[in-house]
Amino acid sequence: MKRISALAATLAAVAMLAGCGKKTADIDGVRIAAADGNAAEWVTHGRTYGEQRFSPLDKVTVANAGELGLAWSFDLPENRGIEATPLVADGVMYTTSSWSVVRAFDARTGKLLWEFDPQVPRKTGVKACCDSVNRGVALWEGRVYVGALDGRLIALDAKTGKKVWSVVTVDQSKPYTITGAPRVVKGKVLIGNGGAELGVRGYLSAYNAKTGKMLWRFYTVPGETPTDDAASDPAMKIARPTWNGEFWKVGGGGTVWDSMAYDPDLDLLYIGVGNGSPWNRDIRSPGGGDNLFLSSIVALKPDTGAYVWHYQTTPGETWDYTATQHIILADLTIGGKPVKALMQAPKNGFFYVIDRTNGKLISAKNYVPTSWASGVDPVSGRPVETPNARYGDGFAMAMPGPLGGHNWQPMAFSPNTGLVYIPAQEIPFPYMQPGGANANFRYQPGVWNIGVDTLIAALPDDEAGLKAIRASLKGRLIAWDPVTQTEKWSVPHSGPWNGGVLATAGGLVFQGSATGEFAAYDAATGRKVWSFDAQTGIVAPPMTYEIDGEQYVAIMAGWGGGFALTAGAGVDPRSEGPRRVLVFKIGGKKTLPPRPVSTKVFPDLPPVTATPAQIAAGKLTYANYCSVCHGASAVSDFSIPDLRYSPLVAAADGWKGVVIDGDREPAGMVSFARFITPAQAEEVRQYVLSLAQAQKARAAAAKAGT
Ligand code: CA
Repeated sequence: MKRISALAATLAAVAMLAGCGKKTADIDGVRIAAADGNAAEWVTHGRTYGEQRFSPLDKVTVANAGELGLAWSFDLPENRGIEATPLVADGVMYTTSSWSVVRAFDARTGKLLWEFDPQVPRKTGVKACCDSVNRGVALWEGRVYVGALDGRLIALDAKTGKKVWSVVTVDQSKPYTITGAPRVVKGKVLIGNGGAELGVRGYLSAYNAKTGKMLWRFYTVPGETPTDDAASDPAMKIARPTWNGEFWKVGGGGTVWDSMAYDPDLDLLYIGVGNGSPWNRDIRSPGGGDNLFLSSIVALKPDTGAYVWHYQTTPGETWDYTATQHIILADLTIGGKPVKALMQAPKNGFFYVIDRTNGKLISAKNYVPTSWASGVDPVSGRPVETPNARYGDGFAMAMPGPLGGHNWQPMAFSPNTGLVYIPAQEIPFPYMQPGGANANFRYQPGVWNIGVDTLIAALPDDEAGLKAIRASLKGRLIAWDPVTQTEKWSVPHSGPWNGGVLATAGGLVFQGSATGEFAAYDAATGRKVWSFDAQTGIVAPPMTYEIDGEQYVAIMAGWGGGFALTAGAGVDPRSEGPRRVLVFKIGGKKTLPPRPVSTKVFPDLPPVTATPAQIAAGKLTYANYCSVCHGASAVSDFSIPDLRYSPLVAAADGWKGVVIDGDREPAGMVSFARFITPAQAEEVRQYVLSLAQAQKARAAAAKAGT
């Protein structure tokens, strides 16, 4: 496997010469294409256009990783999930926090150079299925690009952080959000969006990096009518016949919310496409159909957005099995032949190796248990579905569930070991047609529209039930051989929803965990060689860079995101602490402040006055409208208030003021008066009050040692 081609080395030399007298972050396509020959920097999201997240730096090794210590850290004022990959160029680190806040640091000292807060209206937060996160910036010719949660794409001066231009990339009256990192290819800033759980139509747009002018837009699913002059118009001729019914009323989905990769030699841009809206195909496209290009990898021409090929991982998607997961490009040798491979481990549990020149399947194998399909047919490239996988004949407990065998947390590929390191997880989900009080699904603008029964997916309300759930959820770091499609080794974590991965030429793999442990493993064996207590859970991926001959390893810490919000109670112990940037080097001597102690106290709780039937109704309303942010069974992930401890649970008027009248809209909690009545809001309060009393009794019993 080649590491650095002669061409890339030449380009690197050219880039270094061109670098004399360069502006800050004067990144361009030549410099990104030559990134492998410029090991010191990390200039685009996945480090290279191929997004391998492999660093050629080798000063930190299996032998000396034990001497890693903190070089500097920066505590972030934001308190939501942290998912960004910092970029480093010309000695400056550029990164993002929750609410799309951008910061630049001196990468050697951690000194804050500038900060840009796009002032995202906090009420935008309810449009974000999976927290107000941001996965990072792009750099191009002296500018820093960020996608803001409210749908703006903003260009900043890399030196000052001052805004150069800003464009709105979405219809802000619809539940679109941006959480993904832009990429820049050939002077075009590429940005997608999210919102398929709430009901939107997905697309990717390209903007002129200099001016912010939109150049093309590729829709991933058809609309009600042809979208004249969209780059996707010819491709929609392929897609439209694969749909039925009035799918456009619920948006169709297919959002491009995370992964992209680019091959400069083939001049192909690869994008990962998300799930259907709603999830349930019976509702979305009655009568079936593959529903292109849901859950597909699509290859486009970056100059025009023209369609080249697609590979659909999950035809007729009906489980939230997105193919937005990390895409890695690598040149492999399979069966003695060189293969230009594209690799992905999407949510559906299969690891795909695809020929990136033409989109043909080379191989697919499950990397976690998959109950919905027994395999992938090598000839047709289609999954072999199991009976009742589509839950048409009743309830089906499926593995993976909508959180995936692997989610957005990036993998890494080491050309030295030939292995892909996957942050994998096992989180089953009970799929069921919306029945009972959920029957007669109807689209409701601006809220969760998934078209499956939400009540049976609620976590148990009792501690014993929660314990059993926790024991059934798994998280592992898997070292996967993409040539033989076999697992080489794996390291178990205490639960799911851990961090992204970095591989280095020092023979190391770095990963953080939900429990706040940031660790280095021997890439060949999985042996843990170093770890650090970050005092806060980690989901973001690490990165590494070098300044003046010294190698640094950086990671952003702060638990959050989709699983944390909805099912944070499913991981124990979780780690609650300040969100931070952490940077390590050999011999680093800095220390963190002592681990903070939880200060949660219960308010004085009045007795529950509702009837059991009213509490049951409150539980259903909670499952439909509240649990996606405040957590199943009202157990929060720390970043959004745990309602069981809220004084409002004891105050009917105050509760109504927030839920119905929108008293806390500036803080992000919008009024739900469009969806629920004041009486329903009170039923929810009574339900949460009953949970709070149970939790208070448990806490008292634990304190008394009984
Ligand atoms: Ca989704």
